[in-house]
Amino acid sequence: MIVLAQRQGHRTAQLAAALRRMAGSALAGRPQQGAYPDGGQQSWTPLLIANAVIAMGFAAAANDELPPVSLLVWTCAAIATSLLPMVLRPIFAHHLVARLRETWAALLGLVWAMLPVLFFDIAGHNLRVLAIALVFAVSSIGSLALSASPRAAIVFRGMITVSLVLCAVKLGGHAGLALGLLAIFASTAATCMILRGHDAAVQRAAIEREVQKKNEIIALLLNDFSDQNRDWLWETGHDGRLTYASPGLFAGLGCDATAVIGQPLDHVLKASGDAPGWHELQTAILRRKPIDCITVELPFASGKTWWQITARPLFAGDGAFLGYRGAAHDVTAGHHSNEKLLLEKEAAERSSATKSQFLAVMSHELRTPLNAIVGFAEFLGSPQAEHLGPEDRADHLRTIRESSKHLQNLINDILDAARIEKGTMKLVEQETDAAELVEVAVKMCREAAERSDTTLVARIVDGVEIRGDMTRIKQVLINLITNALKFSPAGSFVNVSFERRDDGGLAIAVRDDGLGIRKEDLLRIFEPYVQADEGIARRFGGAGLGLAIAKRIATLHGGEIEIASEYGNGTTARLVLPAWRVSWPALQPAAAKAA
Ligand code: ADP
Repeated sequence: MIVLAQRQGHRTAQLAAALRRMAGSALAGRPQQGAYPDGGQQSWTPLLIANAVIAMGFAAAANDELPPVSLLVWTCAAIATSLLPMVLRPIFAHHLVARLRETWAALLGLVWAMLPVLFFDIAGHNLRVLAIALVFAVSSIGSLALSASPRAAIVFRGMITVSLVLCAVKLGGHAGLALGLLAIFASTAATCMILRGHDAAVQRAAIEREVQKKNEIIALLLNDFSDQNRDWLWETGHDGRLTYASPGLFAGLGCDATAVIGQPLDHVLKASGDAPGWHELQTAILRRKPIDCITVELPFASGKTWWQITARPLFAGDGAFLGYRGAAHDVTAGHHSNEKLLLEKEAAERSSATKSQFLAVMSHELRTPLNAIVGFAEFLGSPQAEHLGPEDRADHLRTIRESSKHLQNLINDILDAARIEKGTMKLVEQETDAAELVEVAVKMCREAAERSDTTLVARIVDGVEIRGDMTRIKQVLINLITNALKFSPAGSFVNVSFERRDDGGLAIAVRDDGLGIRKEDLLRIFEPYVQADEGIARRFGGAGLGLAIAKRIATLHGGEIEIASEYGNGTTARLVLPAWRVSWPALQPAAAKAA
């Protein structure tokens, strides 16, 4: 944390310094000290060598005419001024080199200024012309070469001009006047050119420094941006290949810049056309339209992530498409919470639908038996009932009893459903013979089978021991058989049989030739208060709880309820118990037993 804080503090300080530098420059209205090109990087060696060679050339030319000692002294001085900077330069610190250059320029100017002054009076006509011409040439070349350091150039040129003017005065007459004027004019023109050139160079340097500072600031801002969040910036060329991407992208992809830059955007992001949002993004890019907050799913190294992409197309002045530049903002967290909200909303809607379903089912399922109980009870207590024969009376009493039983079952189912929802349904485990259990369940459904004119057949084998909650398993079997009877046409058969699973498990199958269940309803019917075809189910009664309870009981036993059905072609419902709950007899009886 401390390291991070220090690092951020350092960055902020860097940024502030850069901003201060920028502001300072802008306020001063001119480049700060140090913005001038001082020519420090320029190589002066050729100039120095040329100076020595020219001096030696003049000495050779004037050897016969001028006094050898003075000529030797002058030539040595000229060569020494050439060698001096070469020797001293490496010794001097960088900031003193400019000072050295100015001193040297003054010395050099003095040496060349001395040439006409020393030898003008004693030299012949030709040598005078040669000396003046040489001095002119050297002053022009020298001031041009020194133009990067204007002070040095002006000092150099000024000294030579003074010398030439002195010669002009000595010469006198028209020639002297012409020489003097020429020297002054040439010097003035050269000085103006040097100053203008220098100003232009200073401005250029200032602009370059400004650009460099701005680049520094942009780089710092980009670094801070990448350090502080997962978002990334990107840019593509006209061909859709990435020309820039900030480190957030490399970090997300788990690769380095070389694997990304120069690659097509869709390859880099490994996005397929099917990925949500990607098609929309591609269409915008193909049409060269601005990309406005398009959310795309991208398979990053850390898993699936969601990014909101914003970018604008770039066009040159002539309208040519240059590419895209934009940003990608991480919206993964928001997307997950949206998904969560959606799931919660769906769950709330489901729960509300379940409640409505519950009310609809209950108002019918409760009212029907209650009406029967209240109606027949009132009738039996009324004076009209005195005329009833014993058979009718027994019939009405049976209706009251059956309706009460129906209500009792319904209330038990509702309580079971509530226990399932709370997760408090517990099993009371014991071992029993599966055949006996099925026989009891079948017997309890015999009456219902007779009422629906259906034949109930149980083809089961003795000796299969099962372990579980017998009351609950019986409850499941009764539910499966009751459903089969309810939805079977009169005169048909309902078969109950045992099936041995490959893994040693037991499936108790209840097969009917009834209505069957549509494929799309097969999963739905396990939800509480749901009936596949409410119109038909209503006709047969039921609260839509039986299979939900059966499934839970089977699951508590480590098994399951399987429903195989073809609409219009009957249904087979199976209670499957896992192998560890079943103990098969060593030798299976050859014939199945019919209950
Ligand atoms: P219910 O008590 O209403 O029958 P269940 O949960 O036992 O509730 O069954 C849910 C629905 O599944 C039934 O309403 C019915 O639409 C369908 N169903 C279950 N068993 C069968 C079957 N054997 N044949 C046709 N439909 C069935």
